[in-house]
Amino acid sequence: GARALDKTVDSVCPFCGVGCQLSYQVKDNKIVSVQGRDGPANHSRLCVKGRYGFDYIHHPHRLTQPLVRRSDVAKDVNVLRDPADWAQVFRPASWDEALALAAGGLKALRDAHGPKALAGFGSAKGSNEEAYLFQKLVRTGFGSNNVDHCTRLCHASSVAALLEGVGSGAVSNQVSDVDQAELVLVMGSNTTANHPVAASWMKNAVQRGLRLVTADPRSTDLSRHAWRNLQFKADTDVALINAMIYTVFDEDLVNHDFIAARVDNVQAVRDGVASFSPEAMAPLCGIAAATIREVARAYAKAKSAMIFWGMGVSQHTHGTDNVRALIALCMVCGQIGKPGSGLHPLRGQNNVQGASDAGLIPMMFPNYQRVDKSEVHAWFEAFWGTPLDATPGYTVVEIMHKALAPDSDPHKVHGMLIMGENPAMSDPDLNHARHALASLKHLVVQDIFMTETAWAADVVLPASAWPEKTGTVSNTDRMVQLGRQAVEPPGDARADLWIIQQLAQRMGLNWHYTGADHGVAEVYEEMRQTMAAAIGGISWQRLQIGSVTYPCVSAQDAGQPMVFTQRFPTPNGRAQLVPTTLIAAHEQPDADYPLVLITGRQLEHWHTGSMTRRASVLDALEPTATASLNTRELSRLGLTTGAQVSLRSRRGAVQVTLRQDDGMPDGAVFLPFAYREAAANLLTNPVLDPVGKIPEFKYCAVRLEVM
Ligand code: SF4
Repeated sequence: GARALDKTVDSVCPFCGVGCQLSYQVKDNKIVSVQGRDGPANHSRLCVKGRYGFDYIHHPHRLTQPLVRRSDVAKDVNVLRDPADWAQVFRPASWDEALALAAGGLKALRDAHGPKALAGFGSAKGSNEEAYLFQKLVRTGFGSNNVDHCTRLCHASSVAALLEGVGSGAVSNQVSDVDQAELVLVMGSNTTANHPVAASWMKNAVQRGLRLVTADPRSTDLSRHAWRNLQFKADTDVALINAMIYTVFDEDLVNHDFIAARVDNVQAVRDGVASFSPEAMAPLCGIAAATIREVARAYAKAKSAMIFWGMGVSQHTHGTDNVRALIALCMVCGQIGKPGSGLHPLRGQNNVQGASDAGLIPMMFPNYQRVDKSEVHAWFEAFWGTPLDATPGYTVVEIMHKALAPDSDPHKVHGMLIMGENPAMSDPDLNHARHALASLKHLVVQDIFMTETAWAADVVLPASAWPEKTGTVSNTDRMVQLGRQAVEPPGDARADLWIIQQLAQRMGLNWHYTGADHGVAEVYEEMRQTMAAAIGGISWQRLQIGSVTYPCVSAQDAGQPMVFTQRFPTPNGRAQLVPTTLIAAHEQPDADYPLVLITGRQLEHWHTGSMTRRASVLDALEPTATASLNTRELSRLGLTTGAQVSLRSRRGAVQVTLRQDDGMPDGAVFLPFAYREAAANLLTNPVLDPVGKIPEFKYCAVRLEVM
């Protein structure tokens, strides 16, 4: 018979931003299984990651003691070392020694080169409390705003466009609103793979009569459920969306009342799309003009219509323009501020919304308050009781560039603290990023595994996995939810919240958070004071009972699942449209590199794979790196599924196994970025969107070489 469980502990899934509630079933300090709970985002559903991806926390690769680099081992960032071979590079140390070395090294660099010499990457996989404390450590202890995290790599362009257009970077309506929508447009998102439970709600709504439109260069599982699937040519997002906006004006489908009441700059957009007729754009984007018009008409005429988008929209040099165009389409049709409508950027990681809200971004304090706004700056100086830098810090990719800047650069980054991020896998142009990490005079990495990034560290601090700590996360729907500690961390690994506080104290900060779980409640309550306009009404106590959706400004406020019903949080309360033009991807295919590389995720693996590739079921399902092409491309190349090939760009090469995917467009190859032995980002182009500073992960030129 089944062994009796020791306990069942309620938490939230550690993977994607859908925020499924689950419970861990625990026996002998081990998670033995996971069950879905009836949370507002999942109603007991879980996908394969949430249901089976839990035993990574018990993997023998877990870091269980602090490590210090051996003085005789040079930094070569050889990420293909076996993680079990850490002793070739590091020696074990006590917490006291490791923390003293970690903080001492950072402090010495700050004192020698000034506060801009240091930078920190926090994590979208940690809790809100960890994110808040981490950015506070960088701003008050390091002394600059050089703090960022992987939001820069996923939705930075979306947030930039949304802040500019509607005054808030978060979603207007929740995923569950698909039940009230007549039409849903999903653009640049492989939702079934990346937000599986959200995709399940969309498919259920289709069964009940929803018109689903998918728009992506790649046809995916979700497209099979679509009323219309717009498989447009990669990189022509603006052409497609502007052609839809053109149609709305051309056929007078405009919501005149809504525009008069709530939208500015409509004429500029109208003028801007004058040359974007569907007939002119059809050859460019590969979608028939009649289809563009039909979809635009259906979207504009629907009683309620939602737009969801993912990284296919955001990860371009024109990512901000892509989102500006989606916002304009939504506004001219008045499809926002009511049930079943609105704008929903599908947030990737479990807490990328919350980590951004909590201030893990270089230009904003918590709750998107700009560091260079004098009254905001003064408020935080008073609240934290310390002088603060009033200039925005550098972003993720910029920090890597600054690490390689000449010594004469007064803003050269010499030292870093990286908590739970893996830029040696996730940054574009990895050879450059890995070189930058190895060039740092002092790198402290706080993580649960010997990640590819940790190989370049001077000090490695063993941290706790999500089921080993208590804290809150905020999902793509703006729901704040509590995860409770289910098991103890292994060996001498410690809670991240404790580690951040220990580093802070050793850098001279007089921090004292008391109470259970390293003062997590006290940290939350302090954070709440800095974010009153969002979570002012969500006390720690309230979160013990269940999730609450922000904005929630008072104890009486039930939370606001739908926002922008009356006004937008812009200075004048009106949406600010911005016209867009065609900008081509930075690197186009040519005779030497004839294929377009599209990178992304797959259902079974999460991001850089450090967790899911160590989860036995997930690894068994998808054990090897594969590159996908359609049948036409395969036969053109004279190759079949299973062939071993090398993919090469101007920046690097990887070896992969070919796989057939007839959802892929001609002339393109898809490669997931979770595989260290075939790291997709060795190939990607580090060029940035000038506004959102997001790299162009979704488009670069490669060639395929038979091995
Ligand atoms: Fe976890 Fe996302 Fe899957 Fe839900 S859909 S179980 S949050 S990975």
